[in-house]
Amino acid sequence: MLRRLNYLKSVQRPLIKVLHINSALHSTSIESVVSSAKVKPDIKVHRDMPYIIDGQNYKYKEGRVYQGFLCERVEPITDYGLMSCTLRHIGTGTEFWYLDRNDINNLFSINFRTNPLDSTGIPHVLEHLVLCGSQNLPVRDVFFKMVSRTVANFMNAMTGPDYTMFPFATMNEADFRNLQKVYLDAVFRPSLLHLDFLLEGWRLEHQDVHNRNSDIVIKGIVYNEMIGSYSDNSTSFKHTMLNHILPSHIYRHSTAGNPSEIPKLSYEELVNYHRQYYHPSNARIFCCGSFDLEKTLEFIDREYLSHYDRIDTSFSRTPPEDRWSEPRQACIQSRLNPMGPGIDHQNQVATGLLMCDILDIQETFELKVLSELLIRSPNSPFYKSMIEPKISGGYTEWTGYLPDCKDTYFAVGLQDVTMKNVELFEELFDNTVYKASKEGFDSLHIESVVSNLELDNLKQQRDYKNLLYKSIVLWNHEGDVVSNLRDSEMFAKLRNKLKENPNYFNEKVEKYLINNTHKLTITMQPTESYEIERQIAESKLILEKLEEISDDKFEQIYEKGLELEAFQKAPQDIEILPCLSINDVQNPFPRPQIMDISLQDVPTMISQEPFAGITYLNCMFNTSGLSINDAMLLPLFCNVFTEMGTSKHDYRQFNDFLQAKMARVECLAKVVESVTDGKTYRLGLLMKTYALDKNVSDMFGLCEELLLNFQVADTERLEMLIKNYISKLGNNVISTGHLYAMMGSSALVTNASRLKSLLSGVDHVDYMKKYVKENSIEAIRDSLKSIGSKVFGRNNLRIAINTSENNLSTIVEDCERFVSHLPTMDQTSDSNEIFLLEPSSRHYDLSMPLSFCAKTFFAVPYAHKDHAALRVLGKLITAKYLLPIIREQIGAYDAGARIGFDGLFNFFSFRDPHVTKSMEVFDKTYEWLQAESHQLDEQALFEAKLAVLQLVDWPICPSEITLESFTFGSNYDMNLKYRSRVLSVTLPEVQNLIEKYFKNESKHFGKCILGPVS
Ligand SMILES: [Zn+2]
Repeated sequence: MLRRLNYLKSVQRPLIKVLHINSALHSTSIESVVSSAKVKPDIKVHRDMPYIIDGQNYKYKEGRVYQGFLCERVEPITDYGLMSCTLRHIGTGTEFWYLDRNDINNLFSINFRTNPLDSTGIPHVLEHLVLCGSQNLPVRDVFFKMVSRTVANFMNAMTGPDYTMFPFATMNEADFRNLQKVYLDAVFRPSLLHLDFLLEGWRLEHQDVHNRNSDIVIKGIVYNEMIGSYSDNSTSFKHTMLNHILPSHIYRHSTAGNPSEIPKLSYEELVNYHRQYYHPSNARIFCCGSFDLEKTLEFIDREYLSHYDRIDTSFSRTPPEDRWSEPRQACIQSRLNPMGPGIDHQNQVATGLLMCDILDIQETFELKVLSELLIRSPNSPFYKSMIEPKISGGYTEWTGYLPDCKDTYFAVGLQDVTMKNVELFEELFDNTVYKASKEGFDSLHIESVVSNLELDNLKQQRDYKNLLYKSIVLWNHEGDVVSNLRDSEMFAKLRNKLKENPNYFNEKVEKYLINNTHKLTITMQPTESYEIERQIAESKLILEKLEEISDDKFEQIYEKGLELEAFQKAPQDIEILPCLSINDVQNPFPRPQIMDISLQDVPTMISQEPFAGITYLNCMFNTSGLSINDAMLLPLFCNVFTEMGTSKHDYRQFNDFLQAKMARVECLAKVVESVTDGKTYRLGLLMKTYALDKNVSDMFGLCEELLLNFQVADTERLEMLIKNYISKLGNNVISTGHLYAMMGSSALVTNASRLKSLLSGVDHVDYMKKYVKENSIEAIRDSLKSIGSKVFGRNNLRIAINTSENNLSTIVEDCERFVSHLPTMDQTSDSNEIFLLEPSSRHYDLSMPLSFCAKTFFAVPYAHKDHAALRVLGKLITAKYLLPIIREQIGAYDAGARIGFDGLFNFFSFRDPHVTKSMEVFDKTYEWLQAESHQLDEQALFEAKLAVLQLVDWPICPSEITLESFTFGSNYDMNLKYRSRVLSVTLPEVQNLIEKYFKNESKHFGKCILGPVS
């Protein structure tokens, strides 16, 4: 339940996850710039891992005191290349976990155990409220003001089922110290103003604040956020499972807040909750990276912890759940998904079973392996019994093992099922586990699953956030987080057990899935009246609330509304907030070297890392020559051809071979505009995978087998894959509607963007549903086959590889062999021309409680000199104009303006209660810039530059080193020039840009709304 995550990702870096699922959202993907170049000898790779020191020689020693903290445990963690150092504050007992890692990116997080006491969302509202200003920094919405005064690559606050965390990461030490000041003051000494409670939590207010005759409604940022969240069926189904399977203690409540309960929360309760739960004794502080630890400890001790006494925190411990003596059932209703199949096919059903305590680390690890064995691949029992018979639209997103709380659980769910099949579900479930326990698992299947998890783990070890995410739940329940990082040991133990007992997993199935009466089956049925009923319930709630108010206090609603408005508009002294200076950001960060070579005439980029262990392979096939009909099927082709085996091995065999040696092959359709002139675009098929260095030969061999011998003949399987593909489409619309809205408005501006929308936007969902209805499975099969025969040629291909040092010669040999076996295609066209469209607007009528809107116009491509300045201006407009009006006054969750690599300038709003108002705000940008020109001062400009630098200096993970320059064709020199261009933008230039791009409405613009007609 990471409440702010989606929102902030959109501030920092748009939703990459969605991007990778939906091939062509690239106009928003290019916020982070990756360098690429011919070899630059002066550029050094910044990571120098591993970093393992014998405990005896390490600078911090067990038993010693550092700045008021006792060092309790020091251990090297070889798997992650770091030293773990656990300290405890002597006065308060606050635990401080330091992971000393030779990494330029430093992550800091302060975490509290925050149990929900009811479903009013106290932990969540408090998470918002502490970020609204504090004793030392009394600035309204300090968190969002700070976003533009830092170069942090990660800033967030999240509420989990029983914890709240406040993490940030930056590569700049001055920035790191600044953010520590803000975060620590926020959590330990927040202002907690009553007015902020009303704004962030909930309040009664006239619809139109200035009109005392207008309707009284409930407003509030968290209230609106949760209405949005509850209208996402997948999320609310998952929460219901948690609330019902652990009903005895805290987990029966919604920690983020149920919209119908949030208005029961009082300000006093919230203040008391803070006093108790945000006490340092109930806090855990996480710090990972290379910046000076003692500076951090000294500051925390001096400013905060030394002012507190220790308290007993046993009150926040959660007892284990009492086990049930017999299975239970539940049934809930849901919103009808307008993008899903017919109402009869939109039921969801899931069975969950309680597993072990989170503190049992090895068992938790093994249950994760068991879960993968049972569900994930075509050789898994649940896949065979529940997915292949085509009774649903596939698993629910959260199917699997869920170690999110004190007691862990396992759940299997199906989406888009008819009621008839819902009735079969339980029997099917029982038969599947019974069969699995009796027949056991094929040893090749076990080996492939375990190897794949090992590979996945190794990849995750390099992700700086993963250390925190992997540890937070266990740590919250006082588990041994240090041992939990010993991945290799856990794998070795499991392999030994499997060697000793071939029935090891059958027995686990018997114990946890058969002889386990703590079992819950939930059915979720959609109703057409769901949204109307929600509105009626909301009106009732408002009436109840009004009845509690006496007549003389009624007038206060109106007055309070005006007071709040004045409070929000009051000028603030944000100069007291820490901010970086220009000197802190002058130098670009070093980027890994990239070599450009040619293998059999195939352009190939290679980058190397000193400590990787993994080789990443990206292949881009240019498919610009495909006919429009073929192009429209490219996303479907990408989703199915890797799942159907080859003419040499059927899909079950092929899957096991593949999983044992490498990661899943992921394919995406990509529309990429030229970054230099913006006049042409290419359509491509991007294929991505990775493997351990030692398995690289096998990886190339299996890729070759797939590309040369893929087969789509099995119409039964094809039909199932297509059904599941369509069910998944549109699942993300509610959580990332602003991206879909921007795609919708961009589609009205250029033909390239229109194609993107047809390949991955709302238009794609419509197109696919219609296409499948109108064509026989045999016809679809033939079309897919013909696409494959036109794509995989070496003269269409470009390659990018990231590998370990000393691995180069083998890689080049393997890659060359792979390339030489690919056929030469008839020459296809290299790129297509972009043309601009006439202005228009589009409304996607979707029944959702909150809407999304976007406006787009064509500006200039990435390489144009105005691009960097427009990107800075976009940040300026966002911070000074859009957020204060659309977020703070209109009540949308987010809003912004930005220019993409494709040269399109976008305005957007996210979960917006008044899209027509927001659209007017977009239209009046020029008027505002004129009237408020005094707000565009040097400091505002500098902050906007910092906001752009956050994206330009983004830390790249190994899997992405070559990816974006490879995809978009930018290179290191280009990006370096771009960076200095960002820093050199002046105020007069900004004024010129405003006249040039905003004074007159562009000749080519589009507007799009996603949401209900009203
Ligand atoms: Zn929130």
